[in-house]
Amino acid sequence: MKQLSRRRFIRLLGAGGAASALGALAIPMRGYAATGKANPQGRVVIIGGGFGGATCAKYLKRFSPGTAVTLIERDQQYVTCPFSNLVLGGLHDMDYITHDYQQLQNKFDIKVMHDEATAIDPAARSITLKGGSKVDYDALIISPGIDFRWDAIEGYDPEAAESIPHAWKAGSQTQILRRQLEAMPDGGTVIIAPPGNPFRCPPGPYERASMFAHYLKNNKPRSKILILDAKDKFSKQGLFMQGWEKLYPGMIEWVKGSDLGGTIDRVDAAKKTIYTTFDRPFKADVINLIPPQKAGAIAHTAGLVNNDGWCPVDQRTFESTMQKDIYVIGDASIAGAMPKSGFAASSQGKVCAAAIAARFLGVDMPDPSYVNTCYSLIGPDYGISVAGIYRIDDGNIKSVEGAGGVSPMDADAAFRQAEARYATGWYQSITSDMFS
Ligand code: FAD
Repeated sequence: MKQLSRRRFIRLLGAGGAASALGALAIPMRGYAATGKANPQGRVVIIGGGFGGATCAKYLKRFSPGTAVTLIERDQQYVTCPFSNLVLGGLHDMDYITHDYQQLQNKFDIKVMHDEATAIDPAARSITLKGGSKVDYDALIISPGIDFRWDAIEGYDPEAAESIPHAWKAGSQTQILRRQLEAMPDGGTVIIAPPGNPFRCPPGPYERASMFAHYLKNNKPRSKILILDAKDKFSKQGLFMQGWEKLYPGMIEWVKGSDLGGTIDRVDAAKKTIYTTFDRPFKADVINLIPPQKAGAIAHTAGLVNNDGWCPVDQRTFESTMQKDIYVIGDASIAGAMPKSGFAASSQGKVCAAAIAARFLGVDMPDPSYVNTCYSLIGPDYGISVAGIYRIDDGNIKSVEGAGGVSPMDADAAFRQAEARYATGWYQSITSDMFS
């Protein structure tokens, strides 16, 4: 089989992320297929069809068409967390953020199985599904996202989350929270309680406060939003605060962790009250409690997590450092300086696809580059962003100095409006990159 030169592979990875390299890796495979011999590139199974898993499945198939790719996803449809805050603010409906797997299956020849992986046997390279069947693999990628630390806050469990929603996985929780906002009285109070680091989507709680404020300003203008933070600072803080002052003066109050009197550690769902470690109560009409998080449950079952509940990986390839032939991408992984975001998960999915394709083809995996951009909307025409480029340095993913950065402070209305438009463009292009 013709080998791809290291230099060419690096160039392709560098040009457009791992994506460009997929096409190049496909060339030797097409040549191989023409010989009529059996597929030499094995079976890859991916658990989790979100930002990391769906992207990885599609790009692996493009990179290496001869590989049999199976995607195991619990749900029939995927509801994105990105733009779910906009649904809460009334800017979009649930249909806008709901996607299906038809094209991955029909257009890209990915076998999509709607089932839940309940166990992984790394020695036998086999996965057990809730439906009873088993699926074998040569390489396994998991991108299960997050689960919540239900033991972290007394009284907060999946049942309590029906009345005090987290809405940190989009879907029915988003709808519950939206209905509560609609039902609250004008002059009422909404609490948002974000967790400490690390957690999914660092700017997410503050975009959520903005979207709540947008809805309340237009519908219940005497209402207040209180953010009870576990942290003393947060992502894009200066930009958010400047935007709040401009669009929603006096409506949003942020209380930093060190002024809170302990962390939120108890909930009384019936009384709609949350308490800090020092028993300080906070009651509100709507409480959005975002609990501390850990890697998705299957990562724990499979012995892929460290003591902090996240998955250590070789950050060049995303292969687990705890189990051979299993790769972990997305929120569940420890990915150096990259935040837990959909864009990061998608970028990692491409790098991981390239690493596996290179391994099957016997081509060296060069040091890749990774990207992330997170847009946040403060109002419908008021967008801000943070962007980063990352490279491997001494085995760790680190930010490239001087690349990326945040939107400028004090930008004019046209600039903010353009960023709001880019946010929509970003959403449309990344979801189409995942699913079509
Ligand atoms: P997910 O996308 O959560 O996918 C995991 C999938 O695995 C799920 O579909 C789940 O059903 C499936 N699954 C899990 N376990 C199993 C199992 N055992 N068997 C079968 N299937 C399983 N990121 C951005 O880049 N930009 C944004 O603007 C942005 N906004 C956000 C706003 C909010 C409110 C929130 C909460 C998050 C936001 N994010 C944003 C972050 C983004 O949603 C996550 O970082 C991203 O979804 C992570 O991708 P993932 O593949 O790791 O996990």
